[in-house]
Amino acid sequence: MGRKGHSKAPVPTWAGDGDAPLAQLPGVTATLAEKLGKLGLQRVQDLWFHLPLRYEDRTRVSAIRGLQPGVPAQVEARVEAVERSFRFRPMLQVAVGDDSGASLVLRFFHFTSAQVAQFTVGRRIRAYGTPREGRAGLEIAHPKYQFLADADEAVLSDRLDPVYPTVEGVSAPALRRLIGLALQRLPAADELELLPPATLSGRGLPDLRDALLSVHRPQAGADTGLLAQGLHPAQRRLALEELLAYQLSLRRKRMAIRRLGAAPLAGGDAVLARLRTQLGFALTGAQERVLAEIEADMARPEPMLRLLQGDVGAGKTAVAALAAVRAVAAGRQVALMAPTELLAEQHLATFRRWLQPLGLRVAWLAGKLAARERRQALAAIADGGAQVVVGTHALMQEGVAFADLGLAIVDEQHRFGVHQRLALRDKGLSGERVPHQLVMTATPIPRTLAMTAYADLDVSVIDELPPGRTPVQTVAASVERRGELIERIRVACADGRQAYWVCTLIDEESGTSGGEQAGYGRGAPVPSPAQAATSLYEQLVGDLPGLRVGFVHGRMKSADKQATMRAFKDGQLDVLVATTVIEVGVDVPRASLMLIENAERLGLAQLHQLRGRVGRGAAVSTCVLIYQPPLSALARARIDTLRQTTDGFAIAQKDLELRGPGELLGTRQTGLAQFRVADLLRDAPLLPLVQHIAADLLARDPERAQRLIARWVGGAERYAGA
Ligand code: ADP
Ligand code: MG
Repeated sequence: MGRKGHSKAPVPTWAGDGDAPLAQLPGVTATLAEKLGKLGLQRVQDLWFHLPLRYEDRTRVSAIRGLQPGVPAQVEARVEAVERSFRFRPMLQVAVGDDSGASLVLRFFHFTSAQVAQFTVGRRIRAYGTPREGRAGLEIAHPKYQFLADADEAVLSDRLDPVYPTVEGVSAPALRRLIGLALQRLPAADELELLPPATLSGRGLPDLRDALLSVHRPQAGADTGLLAQGLHPAQRRLALEELLAYQLSLRRKRMAIRRLGAAPLAGGDAVLARLRTQLGFALTGAQERVLAEIEADMARPEPMLRLLQGDVGAGKTAVAALAAVRAVAAGRQVALMAPTELLAEQHLATFRRWLQPLGLRVAWLAGKLAARERRQALAAIADGGAQVVVGTHALMQEGVAFADLGLAIVDEQHRFGVHQRLALRDKGLSGERVPHQLVMTATPIPRTLAMTAYADLDVSVIDELPPGRTPVQTVAASVERRGELIERIRVACADGRQAYWVCTLIDEESGTSGGEQAGYGRGAPVPSPAQAATSLYEQLVGDLPGLRVGFVHGRMKSADKQATMRAFKDGQLDVLVATTVIEVGVDVPRASLMLIENAERLGLAQLHQLRGRVGRGAAVSTCVLIYQPPLSALARARIDTLRQTTDGFAIAQKDLELRGPGELLGTRQTGLAQFRVADLLRDAPLLPLVQHIAADLLARDPERAQRLIARWVGGAERYAGA
């Protein structure tokens, strides 16, 4: 492929006919091409990678006597009786029997008279479907069938039949035919192959051509169990290549950023020492370790790209503050962006408390600033008067220009998309230099997932909580026990404790229902969160005379919200009724009772976040998950997990198992939900190999790496822009 490095010529992505538009296939009209195009099927190779969802095994015939309910099978039999009825709705039942001496009912609800006429007693039929237990023995509803002439030899397919994900407006047989045509255009194995040969040999993995052919049309006798689980060598090979392409694409982006360079930020030990005394606590070993990792990165002339993971309450803010002061001491500005105004305001208060006594200037920028304040903030940001700027998304808006941004910190990364993270970084672009980036998240991401989702970031983990915390006790209670729970609050508050009662029907920050992630039950009318929370608030005020009950929700004015939160924090309120506005980052150490309403509707990560609001002081804290029975199996699994563990990583792993990686990360976040073959949970064991090959390819054959990216990530990467 000519010389290495940057070449001006467009990179050839694909050997053979893969790049040809689908319209070149016989029978693909403009209308059909448009339908396919809407689903991302544009080139011939797109059909190569449109893989079957499952298979139908019609390579053999089973005896009716041996059929198992629920196990798909093909039978050959003779029609024994035909019955057409109209009792509740039209129905056709055809009894068929075979040489095994057993019979089976084929049942149809949709049929034409012409169809009925074909079923004559004694006729030979071959039928395929999944038998179920019916009223009079086994039956198959709507089997696939064909009639056989008496003389017909039983010619059977020697391949499993693929069942493809449907493409709207294209019939299944038409799609199968098209894919067959596309596969005929597969180039020779060595032209198609992009993986280094050493990768496959010795691992029992086929080359790409073989893999595609055996995934589309597995041979009779192929291990259908493995195929169904996606663990067949052909599927694993495809998953390996897809994961590799994503890994390469993320690593390349990261290399591109690294090349831009950054200002090394070091020095200022004296002021850091003063901040440490200012904090009022000693850092934990884990905090010290991650801080050292961060400082080592910041001292280098290339931008830090680091994800700081730490469970709820692990103390990420203090680490961020120390990093910020390091940057300021080196003469640069720091931006700290949080996803909600409430959380940003809390950071502002914390940073002012810690940094102002050191003589540092901390500015504030959020959406709701008055015009004059906003002008002043912008001016201070632009002339460098503001050394640390805390704010919300407003930090990324146009018109915000930093004098010299050296460090961009993004808190609660999971609430932002990748693009927003990059936008903040771009605020600091000056010439060829970019700011160092630290992104923090309390949503623990299992290591395997992090390796893929954040291959463009280094990861530091605070895996230890500050001392003196007692694990939160978690219990579940049906709503029917609300009275008891209210009594429990009365007792706790009489004892000087404080309680949260959270109504969580809707995630107000993003405007989507929390249930969207959690699998909302359908059908039940869902009251608006404000209504639900308001009526709960009124009930508590009535039932808890003598206690001070406050109420915060997302639609309140920011100042009112702040005032209420502050009153709760200062102990002027005993009970705080809240919607999910309190979800992230809010810190009130004296609160030790957390009640979560409609817990069955929330995802594990969100429940864990909410629970993390308590257990921050020395008192034993309790979290009550209030649910509306009956619990679905999934909701029960979530609640059981929370009762069993408070370890965020264990919870994240469970969440991954229950929901899958796309849900866990959110589709906004990455293209992970759009993997065509790979499944991060299932294919996690491939990841070390993927990383190894990625590093090797980038070093030794960047052009091949580029072709792999183009094959699998293609357009998606172009749009993401690095
Ligand atoms: P998170 O990691 O969830 O953002 P925070 O930074 O809000 O956690 O810290 C939670 C609480 O723990 C805060 O009140 C903070 O001041 C306190 N904290 C942080 N580090 C320590 C420590 N090493 N020792 C004692 N308390 C700490
Ligand atoms: Mg935090």
